[in-house]
Amino acid sequence: MNQEITNVPAIFGSDVFNESVMKQRLEPQVFCAWKSCIEEGKPLELWVANAIAEAMKEWATEKGATHFTHWFQPMTGVTAEKHDSFITPTAGGKVIMEFSGKELVRGEPDASSFPSGGLRATFEARGYTAWDPTAFAFVKDGSLYIPTCFFSYTGAALDKKTPLLRSIDEVSREALRILRLFGDTETKRVTASVGPEQEYFLITKEDFAQREDLRLTGRTLFGAPAPKGQELDDHYFGSIRPRVAAYMKDLDESLWRLGILSKTKHNEVAPAQHEMAPIYTDANTACDNNQLVMEVMKKTAEKHGLVCLLHEKPFAGVNGSGKHDNWSLSTDTGKNLFKPGRTPSQNAQFLVFLSAFIKGVDEYQDWLRCTVASAGNDHRLGANEAPPAIISVFLGAELEAVVESIINGTNYTDIEKSVMRIGVDVLPSISKDTTDRNRTSPLAFTGNKFEFRMLGSSQSISGPNIALNTIMAEELKWFADQLEASTDFDTDLQKLICKALTEHKRIIFNGNGYDESWVKEAEARGLSNLRSTAECMPAYISQKNINLVTRHGIFTETEFRARYEIHLESYCKLLHIEAMTMIDMIRHQILPAASAYATTLCSTIVAKEAVPVSCRAEKALAAKISDTTDSLFDHCTALEELMEQLPQGAEAQSMYYCKSVLPAMEAARKDADLLETLTDKTYWPYPTYSDLLFYV
Ligand code: ADP
Ligand code: MG
Repeated sequence: MNQEITNVPAIFGSDVFNESVMKQRLEPQVFCAWKSCIEEGKPLELWVANAIAEAMKEWATEKGATHFTHWFQPMTGVTAEKHDSFITPTAGGKVIMEFSGKELVRGEPDASSFPSGGLRATFEARGYTAWDPTAFAFVKDGSLYIPTCFFSYTGAALDKKTPLLRSIDEVSREALRILRLFGDTETKRVTASVGPEQEYFLITKEDFAQREDLRLTGRTLFGAPAPKGQELDDHYFGSIRPRVAAYMKDLDESLWRLGILSKTKHNEVAPAQHEMAPIYTDANTACDNNQLVMEVMKKTAEKHGLVCLLHEKPFAGVNGSGKHDNWSLSTDTGKNLFKPGRTPSQNAQFLVFLSAFIKGVDEYQDWLRCTVASAGNDHRLGANEAPPAIISVFLGAELEAVVESIINGTNYTDIEKSVMRIGVDVLPSISKDTTDRNRTSPLAFTGNKFEFRMLGSSQSISGPNIALNTIMAEELKWFADQLEASTDFDTDLQKLICKALTEHKRIIFNGNGYDESWVKEAEARGLSNLRSTAECMPAYISQKNINLVTRHGIFTETEFRARYEIHLESYCKLLHIEAMTMIDMIRHQILPAASAYATTLCSTIVAKEAVPVSCRAEKALAAKISDTTDSLFDHCTALEELMEQLPQGAEAQSMYYCKSVLPAMEAARKDADLLETLTDKTYWPYPTYSDLLFYV
């Protein structure tokens, strides 16, 4: 077999202008200036920017780049880029390749067509991009990509990166205050670490091309269940078929070149579903990287004659795709702040971080819920495949026992000890593996990190991480404000931890989140159960949330409200496209196919009756198809009428889509799927679930 050998260390990061390339290619004083800019947040002087730009251009052109682009993350959830070539005219009709510091640090794309949620009047088209020197530039498809922030003329953040960077700084600042209280004088910075596991589906390009719903909405709006689904559990971790393996190999190599730490790959629960998990990095890089991962996944699929579907629920009746956002805090000295320690003092510090997290998730559960809300994810959350729409925290038996003992002042594991005294007693050792795999929990503690499992597969991970960082900053501040003023540290620490855990214990749930009884219990505990995007979004702009984000400087109120507007707007737009696609497919594909087949059956009946021979089957079938066709026609007409009566206003409209349009779509789909099972396959206008899911 002619298997090419990949030299992974050689290709890893080869397309990234990373720290080692900078060290190699920049004058020492330039390199030092850049370093202190990122470490101490000092502004970059123009001469430094010029020198870096020159080195970047040299490096990028050696790699075949002819263009550069400021790469940013507008509020669409995907990335944006506009490419400029390096050419500058010189005498004699010739050009040279040039790139200045000014071009590196600042750009001015026409911003009028990006969603701004009213932050920028359309006539004020100017938007600016500014280089984020903490993220590395890279070369891709013949261009030098420069990660940037995107903001308006008035300085309002128009993107997903700017607030993320603010939240990263904020959580670092508050975490440092806690560390100082525990005598840590070394740590300079605390980093939010993130490892997002990405799920996806692969289908063939030919099948995709034949399905208008997949092309326009990313999911199948129709499709009867295939005879086989995921019931045999034969796909999860199953052996990877050659075509998929080739795709994954290619994907890995492309990601490695971009310096993305692609680590794990496997088949997922649903047929045709797979997953890639990278090794975690700092939150900013992780967000940039995840955007790239999604893009590279799609592009690589094309090369293999495949299409990568990132939609949260491309196929009804089989599992959808999500993203597990593994999140923790660590110091620049290499300590994970969610790792239970060995000494009483380390334990106490761990318990501050743990109880801050629990308190924060309880207080801001609605905000967290909103950050994962989307039309696509509404099909998953609360169904028996993904965490419920109710937010809760899973701690595992050992840690829950510790929490109980702090709250009740009772024994926890060791009969000898009476009370868990913070700062004095040692925690029981909490081994990573016994924090069992409660897959039903939305936020599970897995040994030294929390795994936020509600994210949708296609969404930017920036929103949820902004929320986690901000909430954590807020609660650490609550601890720090009081502890810094304390005259009896140990006693007050014990009191505060006990208070936080007692008051917010209701958010801790170790049981089965899929169980109906949990819904009732959660309600009794007073936890929110916001089932859909339309239902949860009003909570986004609650005064409590506005106060939180403005207090920490993550968003101005205007920026925050703008995100709310865009969130609801895109929900409505998406459902509009889905409903219109559905109507289109019914009218132009499904009704004609069903009628044509019914007509054939009727001709057969006429012919058979002339002989005569029995035509009981044809008659019964023709009757059923005709009845269902009528019903589908009625449902389609009803849907069309609904679409003509859309109410005004984002909130009312989103509720209308959720409560009226979606059920009408469901009803139409039911008829269409029944017709699919009744109609001769040669008449059916698009590939079925068996074709789509069991081919690649
Ligand atoms: P698990 O088996 O609990 O899911 P893994 O070790 O397989 O844990 O890691 C799953 C994901 O979590 C990976 O992306 C991994 O890099 C990431 N991860 C591991 N430790 C941390 C951490 N401290 N902070 C953030 N992410 C982490
Ligand atoms: Mg996991």
